[in-house]
Amino acid sequence: MRYEDQRKLLVQDLHQRGIVDEVVLQAFARIPREDYVLKEYKEYSYRNQPLPIQSEQTISQPLMIALMMSKLHLKSSDRVLEIGTGSGYQSALLATIVAELCTVEVLDNLSLGAQKVLKAAGFRNIHFRIGDGWRGWEKAYPPHKDFDKIIVSAAADCIPSRLCEQIAEGGIMVVPVGGSSGQILNVVKRQNGELIVEQDVPCAFVPLVHQGGR
Ligand code: SAH
Repeated sequence: MRYEDQRKLLVQDLHQRGIVDEVVLQAFARIPREDYVLKEYKEYSYRNQPLPIQSEQTISQPLMIALMMSKLHLKSSDRVLEIGTGSGYQSALLATIVAELCTVEVLDNLSLGAQKVLKAAGFRNIHFRIGDGWRGWEKAYPPHKDFDKIIVSAAADCIPSRLCEQIAEGGIMVVPVGGSSGQILNVVKRQNGELIVEQDVPCAFVPLVHQGGR
């Protein structure tokens, strides 16, 4: 079956599994996942499962990405921070919806690979950084403002306090929290200056590697 047809089936599958945010479904309908998958796994591009990418990392499961994106209630005016660029697939899904995406990846080969694919795909609203995303988007790098939405694509052992500081008023962060045996997706909102934390579904991500500190 052509990739295009497989992509339509994936969108239908996401919808049947409870993803109703039209903005999210349209992004999945638009972005070719096969462009972000290693060539030996291309035939599995539209299976609703994570797949290996370089350096023992994974391209996330479409359903999990869709769920996290739905929790963010994304708007076209949003400035979004993504931690864990990985293959760049989720970056493409986000950047096709929002005004501006800042994405941080700790492994240089993955970031450089994603930069190449995303630039070739024509994205002009993505800022890339290679470094430790535990600390977020450090002030030394433009843009300097806080983020409307933050999405962390690797498992943190606790909610990273530096990332909480970078959530704008009215903003939302999704972050998997827990150890290697499994995590819970945490949804952190900033309302009237206060942080509200809700625990959502169980999930399984590769670990967020960092230097320590909260
Ligand atoms: N959304 C990506 C997920 C990639 S897996 C995709 O679908 O392709 C998670 C990624 O987080 C890996 O690429 C890993 O290298 C990266 N990562 C782990 N710890 C990190 C950190 N402290 N800062 C930035 N990226 C990190």
